[in-house]
Amino acid sequence: MDLGDELYKEIILDNYKARKNRRRLDDADLKREGFNPSCGDDIELFLKLDGDTVSEASYVGVGCSICVASANMLCNAITGASIEQATDVLRRMRAMLVDGEEPDFPDEAADLEALQGVKQFPVRIKCAMLAWNTLEQMLHDAGLTG
Ligand code: ZN
Repeated sequence: MDLGDELYKEIILDNYKARKNRRRLDDADLKREGFNPSCGDDIELFLKLDGDTVSEASYVGVGCSICVASANMLCNAITGASIEQATDVLRRMRAMLVDGEEPDFPDEAADLEALQGVKQFPVRIKCAMLAWNTLEQMLHDAGLTG
C-alpha cells in the first residue's frame, strides 16, 4: 500500500516503533479503551492532567502500524498541551482524514501530516482515527469538551 513519499513512511514507522509513550499510567486521571472491529485495533489511552494541561499521555494495546503510529503521535502532540489545544489538534486530524482537507497542524503536531495518505484508504481511516476518537470520547465523558 502506498502511503505517500518515503519521508512520510519513515515518520509512520518511527512512531510505530517508538516505545516512550507505550506504557500504562497507573495514576492516570483519565483512561479509556478504544476498539476498531474492522481491523482488530484495540488500545487503551491514559491521560494525566495538571489543571487543564495534559501533563502526560500514554497508550497500551495492539494494533496495525497506522493505528499504533497515530496513537504515538497523539501522545506526542498533546503532552504539554491544554485540553483546548488537544481538542483543536483532534479537529484538524478529523478535517484532514475525514473531510479531506489539507493538513494544517501546529509545529508540535507536525508529524500527523505523515498520515494524510491514509485518506485514500477509507478502511484505514478508522485505524488512524481510533486513538483520536478515543480521546474525544474520554474528554466528552469527563465533561471536558464543549
Ligand atoms: Zn488498523
